Order: sequence, then structure tokens, then C-alpha cells
Amino acid sequence: MSELPKIWLSSPHMGGHEQEFVQSAFDTNWVAPLGPNVDGFESDLQNYSGVPHAAALTSGTAAIHLALIILGIKQQDEVLVSTFTFSGSINPIIYQGAIPIMVDSEPDTWNMSPQYLEKAILDRIAKTGNKPKALILVHLYGMPAKLDEIIEICTRYEIPIIEDAAEALGSSYKGKKLGAFGDLSVYSFNGNKIITTSGGGALLSENEDWIVKARFLATQARDKAVHYEHSTLGYNYRMSNIIAGIGRGQMLVLDQWVEKRRKMHEFYQRLFGEIDGIELFSEPNADYFSNHWLTALTIDKRIAGFDREEMRLHLLADDIESRPLWKPMHTQPVFKGFPYYGDRLSESLFAIGLCMPSGSNLGDLERARIEKSLNRLFLKR
Ligand SMILES: *Cc1c(COP(=O)(O)O)cnc(C)c1O
Repeated sequence: MSELPKIWLSSPHMGGHEQEFVQSAFDTNWVAPLGPNVDGFESDLQNYSGVPHAAALTSGTAAIHLALIILGIKQQDEVLVSTFTFSGSINPIIYQGAIPIMVDSEPDTWNMSPQYLEKAILDRIAKTGNKPKALILVHLYGMPAKLDEIIEICTRYEIPIIEDAAEALGSSYKGKKLGAFGDLSVYSFNGNKIITTSGGGALLSENEDWIVKARFLATQARDKAVHYEHSTLGYNYRMSNIIAGIGRGQMLVLDQWVEKRRKMHEFYQRLFGEIDGIELFSEPNADYFSNHWLTALTIDKRIAGFDREEMRLHLLADDIESRPLWKPMHTQPVFKGFPYYGDRLSESLFAIGLCMPSGSNLGDLERARIEKSLNRLFLKR
């Protein structure tokens, strides 16, 4: 058998200049938290997103946590959140002792349903007398959510939006970059994301005071004093100058990597175009521009002749990784008992959905291997 390397779902892809930035940190002995790479990476993120203020942090989860703190979320406050997401979106609500109010998806973008969002807001007001204090809005697999509708609702009820663009750096809606829609916005640079610093995140906002506060809280909330004085609870959430050097190198190739992920999506469009019973998760219209961080699909077994688990195992036997969609948060044991609004669409998608290998480092050779493997599966029907 061949000794070809495994094809991963989404693995780190360095552009070539990352080590130069890391080396410069060593050369100048900025082997420290903070330093020129952190400043440079933050300014790269600001320029790219069009959001004027950014704080580089240790993770996307830390960025969401600080966003909640900055918005004053405390014990027993209610926070709306997409149920169809990764746990990093919702865990920080619990860190604050607050209550997640999970809202299900709509079929066009698989993101938060504006209808169920409004239903949830009205029902919480009816039940508790208070409206939820914030909304965490996810763009799944890079696909923009129905931003016009959701922003209209949140404006009407005066609920601030934390935009969880962890998977959506490089995506845009009506020509504006995702991450530029929230009152506060979050990117992640975890190892599997569209660009990576091995681990990291960022918080962005138009509101300078908030980002200044995020940097303060992220460095243990040290008051101005020569000794260490603390009047606020702090966190150790700041990105280091070494890690930020990787980020600066990755920013040089971000747009190329988006193109490569979109090329993977086009490849799957061609491959599955003729296969009945397989539907690719694609942009509903030209307002939506996805980075296609992960290409996802759903399989109707009655028509396709196989289900997603058969397809996943078939690919795995050929050393090709694929993965079920995110398991909705309202079905996770740890979030059992918290309020949920929706018609369980995300559960149906989870049951029949699969994420395909989508890395920007996959080329013609890998595409040929994936195609060959799937053609054998299609023939077996
Ligand atoms: C990855 C991810 C996060 C968390 O980011 P980390 O950097 O891994 O902490 C949050 N939300 C979503 C939707 C993600 O995909």
C-alpha cells in the first residue's frame, strides 16, 4: 500500500514568513507577552476587518469571555446564543454564572433563525420580566448569518451583539467583512482555523474604551502603580509576542488561503453535482461570501444509498478525515436544562451532515485521492 500522508479535515498551513517575525522577536529579546509583533498583529487585524480597535488574546474563547465581562454580564443574566456551534461560543456564559438561552438555526445559512430569536426574546420577557442582556451570534463554517434581520431585531430590543466570527475570518456579507457587524467581535487562531497562531484569538470593536479595557483585564487588571495593585478581577488572556509573530506571517497569506478553501468548495460542487441525495452547504445568494472554512454537506440516505457515517468510515479507510457537524449545544449533557427555542433543525442537520477535508494546504493530489475514494463509494450503491 501507499505511504501517502493522511488527508486532514483542516490542518495548519504556514505561508513561509511566520518564522521571520518570530525570529525578530528573538533577535530583539521580545520573548515576552506584548511587544512589536502583538502591536503589528493587532493593526493587521484592524486593517483587514475595517474595525478600528483589536486586542490579541490567548484564544477565541477568552475573547468571548472578555466581551461578556465588558458588557457587564453577571450571575443569572440571560445571554442568547446560537445552539448550532462549537462549545467555545457558549462556555464563557457559564464562566460568568449567566444563563445561556439557546436559539436554533434557519435552513438557508444554518445560522441563528431570526424568527426563533424574536420568539426567545419575547418569551424571556414574558417569563422573567427582563430581556436577555446580550446575543452571541455565530457564523457557522464561515457562512454569514442573516445579519440584516438579526441586527434589526437586536436594535429594536437594544440587545448588544457579540459576533462570534471564530470560523469566519475572510468571509463577508454585502461586501463588509464578518467581524465588523458586532458591538464586539471575535476571531480565533486555533490550529484548525483558516489561519492559525497554534492557538490564539482576538476581540475587536469600534469602541476604543472597550478594547482598552479588554487589554487591561487580559493582563491581570493591574492598576497604575509601581507595585502590583488590583481593584478589579483580572485574567491572563493576552497573546504573547512570539505567537503574534506567527499571526503576522499568516495575515500575509489570509486572502490566498480563503481562495484555496473556496477552491476546495468548488471541487466538491463538481464532485457531488451529479450525485442525487447529497446537498452541499453553499451561499444562498450573492450577498453572502463564505471563506468556506469547512465545506459541509447533508446526505439523504434514501436517495443517496448511503448515510453520513458510511461515507465517513469509507473515507477513513482511505486515510481521509471527515467529521460530523457540530452537535447542537442544547443536546449536550453539560447544557441540559437551559432554555432552548427552535424546531430542532440543527438536530436534523447534525444527524445527516458531514464536514469534508477543506484545508488550504490540499492540492490536486489530495483532491484526486478524495475523488477516487468517493467514486468507489458511489459505485457501490
Ligand atoms: C474555534 C471556535 C471558538 C473558540 O475559539 P478558540 O480559539 O478555540 O478558543 C469559538 N466559537 C466558534 C464558533 C469556534 O469555531
